[in-house]
Amino acid sequence: MKYSGYAYIKTIGCQMNVYDSEKLAAILNSYGYEKTIDMDKADIVVCNTCSIRHKAEEKAFSFLGRFAKIKKKKPHLITVMAGCVAQQEGEKAFARVPHLDIVLGTQAFSRFGPIIDAIKSGKKKIVDIKNSAMIYEALPDTSCFEENKISKFVTIMQGCDNFCTYCVVPHVRGRERSRLPAAIIEEITLLAAAGVKEVTLLGQNVNSYGQKEAQISFPKLLAAVNDIAGIHRIRFATSHPKDLSSDLIYAIRDLDKVCSHLHLPVQSGSNKILKKMNRGYTREKYIDRILKLRKECPDIALSTDIIVGFPSETWGDFKDTMNLLREIEFDSIFAFAYSDRSSAPAARFSDQIDEDEKKERLNNLLGLQEYYTEKKNKEQIGKILDVLVEGKSGKLRDGFDHVQKSMEQMVGRTQSNKIVHFPSKDVIIGDIIKIRIENAYPHSLWGHPLGAQR
Ligand code: SAM
Ligand code: SF4
Repeated sequence: MKYSGYAYIKTIGCQMNVYDSEKLAAILNSYGYEKTIDMDKADIVVCNTCSIRHKAEEKAFSFLGRFAKIKKKKPHLITVMAGCVAQQEGEKAFARVPHLDIVLGTQAFSRFGPIIDAIKSGKKKIVDIKNSAMIYEALPDTSCFEENKISKFVTIMQGCDNFCTYCVVPHVRGRERSRLPAAIIEEITLLAAAGVKEVTLLGQNVNSYGQKEAQISFPKLLAAVNDIAGIHRIRFATSHPKDLSSDLIYAIRDLDKVCSHLHLPVQSGSNKILKKMNRGYTREKYIDRILKLRKECPDIALSTDIIVGFPSETWGDFKDTMNLLREIEFDSIFAFAYSDRSSAPAARFSDQIDEDEKKERLNNLLGLQEYYTEKKNKEQIGKILDVLVEGKSGKLRDGFDHVQKSMEQMVGRTQSNKIVHFPSKDVIIGDIIKIRIENAYPHSLWGHPLGAQR
C-alpha cells in the first residue's frame, strides 16, 4: 500500500545499524513515508536499537517511552522498535513500552511493509522476531541517505558464529551469513554512480566472509571492490585477530584503494581473560599478527576495542592490557567497561567486578591511550597527506588558538582515519586534497591544503 506521511528514524549503536536504518528508510519511502528530521512531524517513528551494552538498551527504552504522551494527542502515530533489542525482547517489549505498535527483529526487514499494512488496517501490536536464512537484499535508495553522502557503509555479512562469552551478537543477529559478491558489487557500483567516494565493508568477522557459502574470499572481494570506478577508498570492519590471514595483509599492502588502517579488536592483554572470553587467540598470537602487518605495511594505523572489568579480571590481568597498549602503541582505541548481558554466558561467571572498579580501570586505560594517540598524531607533523573532504568544521576544540576565527575551516580524513581540519574556501565535499600537516592535537590534526584532485 502507499500512504502519505513522515518517518522519523532514531539509530542507536554500531555502523551496521546506520546501514540498516537506511534500508528501513528506503522501505518506508516505498510505502509513501518521507524521511524527516523533525520528530514532531512524524507519522511513524522507528527506533533502531542496540543491545551490546546495558546503556544502549536503556537509551532505546527511554527514547520510545517519550511517545506515550505524544501518541495520546496523535493516535495515528505508529511506533516501531527495530533491531537488536527488539530481537532480544520480543513480546516483552510491550510490557515496558505499552504504546509500542511493532517489534521488528533483526531478520524481519523483508516483512516490514506488510506489517505496516496490517497495523494500518487495524491490527494491534505485531511482533516479528522470526529467523530468516535469506539476507534482505534491496538496492540503496539514495534519497534516504543520512547527511554524509561521500562515505557509506555496506554490510557484506550478517550474524556471527564466534560466541565470545560476553557478546549478544550471535544471540540477536543469528548465525553468520554472507551476501553474494555480485549483490555487493552491484550495490557499491550504484553508490559510486551516486557520488560516494569511500565505502566501509561491514561484518562481525570479515575474514570469514564467504567461507560457509564457498564463495570468493574476503581478500578477493576487496580486489573486486578495488576495481569499481569512482570509489577512491575502501575500509572494512571488523577483522577478527584469530582469522587475520596473510592474504588479507597482502591485500592491504597491494590494493591501492584499501586504506592503510586496520581495526583489530584485542579485548584484553591477559591470556587468562582472552581464554575466558573465548576469543581463540593469545596475546602472543595477536602481537605476531601485528608484527607481520607492520613488516608488510610499515605505515599502517592501528585501532582496537578493549573491555575492562571482565569477570575475574585482576589488577594483574588489567596491567597486562595496559602493557599491551604500551607495546603496540595503537593510534586509537575504543574501550568499554564490561556490561553484563543476560543472554551471554559471562553473565553467569563468578567474580564479577565492582562497577567503581571497572570505572577506575577504564579511566586509567583511556588516560594511557591519550598519550599514544597524541604521540601518533604528532608523528604526522611535516607529512603531506591525502585527505578526503567530509564537510565544514564544527566548533574547533581548544588548542586551535592560532587559527583566525574568521577563517573558513573544513574537515576531512586521512587514509589512516585521522581527522584533519584545514582552512579553505576552494574545496568541495568529496575532493581528495593534499594537506601539509602543521599541528597535532589529542583528537585531530591541522594543516594547509596544497591542491585539489576531483
Ligand atoms: N565483531 C567484533 C569483534 O569481534 O571484535 C565486535 C563487535 S561488537 C559490536 C563491538 C565491541 O563491543 C566489541 O569489540 C567489544 O569490545 C564491545 N562489547 C561487546 N560486548 C560487550 C559487553 N558485554 N560489554 C562491554 N563491551 C562489549
Ligand atoms: Fe561478538 Fe565475538 Fe562475534 Fe565479535 S566475534 S560479534 S565480539 S561474538
